Amino acid sequence: MIRCNLTILGATGTIGINTLDVVAMHPERYTVVALTGQNQVERLATQCRQFKPRYAVVTDTARAQELRHLLADTETEVLCGERALEEVASLPEVDTVMAAIVGAAGLKPALAAARAGKRILLANKETLVMAGRFFMQAVRRGGATLLPIDSEHNAVFQCMPEPYSGDFATHGVRRILLTASGGPFRTRPIETLATVTPDEAVAHPNWVMGRKISVDSATMMNKGLEVIEAHWLFNARADQIEVVIHPQSIVHSMVEYMDGSVLAQLSNPDMRTPIAHALAYPDRIEAGVPWLDLPRLGQLSFETPDTRRFPCLALAYRALETGGAAPTVLNAANEVAVQAFLDRRIPYPAIAQTLERCLDRLGDRPAEELDALVALDQESRAYTAALIAQHA
Ligand code: NAD
Ligand code: MG
Repeated sequence: MIRCNLTILGATGTIGINTLDVVAMHPERYTVVALTGQNQVERLATQCRQFKPRYAVVTDTARAQELRHLLADTETEVLCGERALEEVASLPEVDTVMAAIVGAAGLKPALAAARAGKRILLANKETLVMAGRFFMQAVRRGGATLLPIDSEHNAVFQCMPEPYSGDFATHGVRRILLTASGGPFRTRPIETLATVTPDEAVAHPNWVMGRKISVDSATMMNKGLEVIEAHWLFNARADQIEVVIHPQSIVHSMVEYMDGSVLAQLSNPDMRTPIAHALAYPDRIEAGVPWLDLPRLGQLSFETPDTRRFPCLALAYRALETGGAAPTVLNAANEVAVQAFLDRRIPYPAIAQTLERCLDRLGDRPAEELDALVALDQESRAYTAALIAQHA
């Protein structure tokens, strides 16, 4: 057994909390060196009391003061700002970084971990969607190891041959089959989608997640982002990645081989399984997840997604096929549009409509420099915000 020194970026979020839950079950294996959060200072303080990290990071000064006050009698040092996120992701004493910040804010700290050659447990799929080429390059050059946390990609990772060379043909792999639950609106009459509320959209049937990713699951943009994520993680072309709706969320994804075999990873829908897999890899540890009771489940079903119901899925394929900076544009526009929907500034169908207009306008830009991508991310946000303002 190898002891592991851990930084958790986004410790106060759903993935962060689940990670600490697994860590707490195996105190002999894991030492927490740093925890980070954005707004939930009290939760972060409670986590710091329990796990006694050397550092805690928040992004804004006022919150940092609050946290210092709450942790005055502890040994945890409170750091502040975006640079501090990069620092705790690349500390020499840290070997493993859980990258679980939501959105584009997770990119720079994940890149810092990659350049520092860490073992990266990647939950922040936006890093790959926004800047897949640069991130994968940083992983290779930095000698980092990448283990996917997203349940589908973790499943694919488990079903791929080891070591996976990045070449489908070498291993006789034909396709990756990504499963999707279909979210809360899988069977709702399409003509009623115009009146969907944020609360309905975040009420996911199988998973408890942050609000942004819950809306992404309802629109299936989450699956679209995951198609792009799978492209980068497994070096798969768009036509080698198929999305299959599987409402029970028990089969987390599959790999199809040339001989007709399909390997699948099954488990109860609980993120602690992929988290524990990646934390302990190549060992296996308990995750606190109930054992799968297949006879009790009775049935597993599969269907093809309807892109009229889920136009965001088609937009993500379009962005992947266009290549260049199109996925960056799409991801940034999606973050802004989803927030506008959550704030009740646009109706649900306007999310996809806005994204399409944004891709039409900015989707053909090249992606030659990371700085240019970051600038384009901003431009896409601004353009989306302007489109949304027209709705007001
Ligand atoms: P969440 O909203 O619950 O948590 C996000 C975390 O990031 C929090 O700790 C928050 O404080 C921090 N954060 C947010 N904005 C920040 C900023 N600007 N700067 C610094 N920190 C910031 O989200 P989540 O559901 O835990 O998801 C985290 C990531 O994991 C996302 O990229 C998501 O797509 C991915 N993911 C989540 C799940 C899931 O089941 N929740 C599954 C697969 C992948
Ligand atoms: Mg997923």
